[in-house]
Amino acid sequence: MNHSDLLQVARDFGDPVYVYDAEKISSQFNRLTKAFSSVPQLRLNYAVKALSNISILRLMHSMGSGLDTVSLQEVRLGLMAGFAPEDIIFTPNGVSLEEIEEASALGVQINIDNLSILEQFGSKHPKVPVCIRINPHVMAGGNTKISVGHIDSKFGISIHQIPHLLRIVELTKMNINGIHMHTGSDILDIEVFLYASEILFDTAKHFPDLEFIDFGSGFKVPYKAGDIQTNIEELGEKLGKRFNDFCKEYGRDLTLAFEPGKFLVSEAGHFLAKVNVVKQTTSTVFASVDSGFNHLIRPMLYGATHEIINISNPQGKERFYSVVGYICETDTFANNKRINEISEGDILCFNNAGAYCFTMASNYNSRFRPPEVLWYQGRAILIRERETFEDLTRNQRDVKDLFLQKKEKVELK
Ligand SMILES: *Cc1c(COP(=O)(O)O)cnc(C)c1O
Repeated sequence: MNHSDLLQVARDFGDPVYVYDAEKISSQFNRLTKAFSSVPQLRLNYAVKALSNISILRLMHSMGSGLDTVSLQEVRLGLMAGFAPEDIIFTPNGVSLEEIEEASALGVQINIDNLSILEQFGSKHPKVPVCIRINPHVMAGGNTKISVGHIDSKFGISIHQIPHLLRIVELTKMNINGIHMHTGSDILDIEVFLYASEILFDTAKHFPDLEFIDFGSGFKVPYKAGDIQTNIEELGEKLGKRFNDFCKEYGRDLTLAFEPGKFLVSEAGHFLAKVNVVKQTTSTVFASVDSGFNHLIRPMLYGATHEIINISNPQGKERFYSVVGYICETDTFANNKRINEISEGDILCFNNAGAYCFTMASNYNSRFRPPEVLWYQGRAILIRERETFEDLTRNQRDVKDLFLQKKEKVELK
């Protein structure tokens, strides 16, 4: 998508608006698939929480992706989007036994990340195959050093609890068909990731009936020029080889699974917002857009950097701007950034707006959530309507009669 395509989307659908480039999503999918082409059975399960629009899920389905889900509602969205239950893995954290049972009744692959639920689920449903989420306690240090950490993480079953885990499996006679890890941190150093994988391979040897090993995600994508990104090709070559060797050792071909979210959709997304006001203060120049952290919270929540381009004046002279929103709270998107000269009414494009942007949007300040548009084969297709005042008030109950009664009573006295 070029700048004039994006401007046309803003003209046709209004602003602010999210736009997703289908071609970028499929090229990322193909890149990951190609990097692991040495592995006979590869499975990519797209992490729904990154961007959960049903039409995006349909696109993932058409490419041959499976789904990674973290709530019963994401499971239901996946089924609605045409996925077979066996193409969906349910990887929640801290949910009730009931929610896991409901997901299991829908036929999806269950992934359990604590011993309490494992024992309860295994006792009640010993025939249902279950994947277990392991916490290998490995994380990347600030440099190439491997440090052991994440001891406080709430995710996964600690490798130090393997004896307890094995006892539960033995006593309940449940069937463990997969093992999984997802540390949640970006893969900056492939050696660190391979080290964690070795822990997973060691754990795998305890379970004779595995069908797959799931390495989670953590693929880092560049947000700005010069950012480190995961070297997918190198990872594919090294982990692929190691995985194939492990399968020989294990005695059977297993499926290698990943759950990429950000990697597939981050760079495909653009968020377009209009500049309402250019405000020169004593210390800086603010450009205020018709949005805020109600639509894009990552800069404020994580300190994430989203590249901002003035697509209305891409050749203009560069000036320093602080880009802020219209929320009555500090909602700074960028501080003193070089951007091509901004006039009121210009459209700014926030890049890398595909992952964890719309899905984290809210109605704070009683603003509407923006529409979503899919750019597919040179056409802009609306995949979510802009909200309306009816949407905002739909579930609210107005108790005005309650207060009227009270007032009348007071007046009677
Ligand atoms: C969020 C999540 C992912 C996706 O992570 P990304 O960094 O977006 O690729 C994968 N697996 C699980 C279990 C997750 O919770």
